Amino acid sequence: MYIVSACLLGANCKYNGGSNDNEAVKDFCEGHMIMTVCPETEGGLEAPRPPAEQQGEKVVDREGKDLTAEFRSGAEICLRKVLDSGEEPEIAILKANSPSCGSCFIYDGTFTGTLTEGDGVFTKLIKARGIKVLTEKDIVKTKVKELKK
Ligand code: SF4
Repeated sequence: MYIVSACLLGANCKYNGGSNDNEAVKDFCEGHMIMTVCPETEGGLEAPRPPAEQQGEKVVDREGKDLTAEFRSGAEICLRKVLDSGEEPEIAILKANSPSCGSCFIYDGTFTGTLTEGDGVFTKLIKARGIKVLTEKDIVKTKVKELKK
């Protein structure tokens, strides 16, 4: 089973009310069992909403509202769904740079579009379970490598 950020498959759960619909991810997932997750939706956040970023141990939105509890509870709900599914997660394909779903690099909390090293709140839980995490950027690279073979 692949765990996939819902916004990458077209769900309009992104902070601005849109999606991050990604054809390469859809192609990559074709023929595989998938479980879509949106930790921020599960945490009770509606779309559209102000963008949020991690600031140290907290998550705050651009208006300064502390959303740490919502982000953590949403991440835990999504992890529970994965564990309760009874399926073996092979990999997770999660939205790059998101404060929930980002892997290796996330926005730095200054709301200036600046990246820093770090994982999203949900990604940390997934990695702690030993599940490999890719982003949509890795999928594009993977497909290019395949095309070069
Ligand atoms: S929490 Fe993850 S799945 Fe939900 S909109 Fe943000 S990046 Fe997409």
